Amino acid sequence: MKPKDRQQTDSALHVMGGVEQPPSINLKAAHQFMNTRRNVLTAENYVEGILRGDRTILSKAITLIESALPAHQSLAQEIIGQSLPFSGNSIRIGITGVPGVGKSSFIESFGRFLTQSGHRIAVLAIDPSSSRSKGSILGDKTRMEELATDPNAFIRPSPSSGSLGGVARKTRETIILCEAAGFNVIVVETVGVGQSEIAVHSMVDFFLLLMIAGAGDELQGIKRGIMEMADAILINKADGDNLPKINITLAELRNALHFFHPSESGWIPVAGSCSARTRNGIPEAWQTISEYVEFAKGNGYFNKRRLEQARNTMHISIEESLSNHFFQTAEIKKQLKKLNESLTKMEISEYAAAQMLLNIYFKRK
Ligand code: GDP
Repeated sequence: MKPKDRQQTDSALHVMGGVEQPPSINLKAAHQFMNTRRNVLTAENYVEGILRGDRTILSKAITLIESALPAHQSLAQEIIGQSLPFSGNSIRIGITGVPGVGKSSFIESFGRFLTQSGHRIAVLAIDPSSSRSKGSILGDKTRMEELATDPNAFIRPSPSSGSLGGVARKTRETIILCEAAGFNVIVVETVGVGQSEIAVHSMVDFFLLLMIAGAGDELQGIKRGIMEMADAILINKADGDNLPKINITLAELRNALHFFHPSESGWIPVAGSCSARTRNGIPEAWQTISEYVEFAKGNGYFNKRRLEQARNTMHISIEESLSNHFFQTAEIKKQLKKLNESLTKMEISEYAAAQMLLNIYFKRK
């Protein structure tokens, strides 16, 4: 008997195939509830906490970004993805200068000035040397004491492991979460001694270089390239006995700036002075940054630069993933070892060796 016929004959016993009902409890909510009970937050829990401005949850999410565990990484990516629509609404400022120039003192004064003016500031750092030296910038708890306890400020030390590329990526992702948490000024600090400036420059809207008077460019270890990246150069420690030197250094600096190529934004870099100690020049520093933002938004450069940065990040991310995959391929590892020996014995050129490996990787003949 066909089921249809049976339905017609066994009329008292048949079951109607009605519309499928949703389960009486919301499984997704139940799952989240269980995870919360076990103290395991879901991506949604994290995002909800971040949007609420919960600093503990924000810190935990950043720890996930910094973690090397694949499970943490995938959770972090989910959180970042969901936070992205709520990000972007900030001014991102890079600050550099050699150790001792007064970066953390400046950020402390500048940050306090901003929070007192109603802003919310997040301070991040890029210090690729910190994993080696353990002398990480912002790692020292005594730095920025006042700002550290300010409810409208959030300070996060540099991620302490990995290559500069890895550290930069983590900082970029952290910026997204901080913005989603409502911080409208993001400061990324770095030491003025090398490649890390380029990484910071590639993720900020405005780049500020701090110098001190009368030390000479060579002494300050500032490369011309770094000066050329700056949207403003401020001579810090403009107080007390330093004051007489300031004007001379400022005049020299302004003179030097004349010889630089005009920047792509059309903005003429500002040279000025300030004192993190007396707070002279700190409101003016913010004024300069605000003027820049107005200028760059007015001529379209602000958005253009952010878009370029996003594209660059995408490219870098692809390059990194491909390169990681390449070097982790078992056959490549094996052949690389052999080719290294051949290179040592000068049996093969470096280009030929590279090509051989690529051919293996792409399974070319
Ligand atoms: P960083 O290494 O660049 O972060 O520099 P710090 O902020 O740690 O400052 C280095 C030293 O310079 C500290 O002893 C500060 O007290 C001092 N310093 C920083 N800013 C000023 C300033 O505006 N005036 C004076 N006189 N000293 C300052």
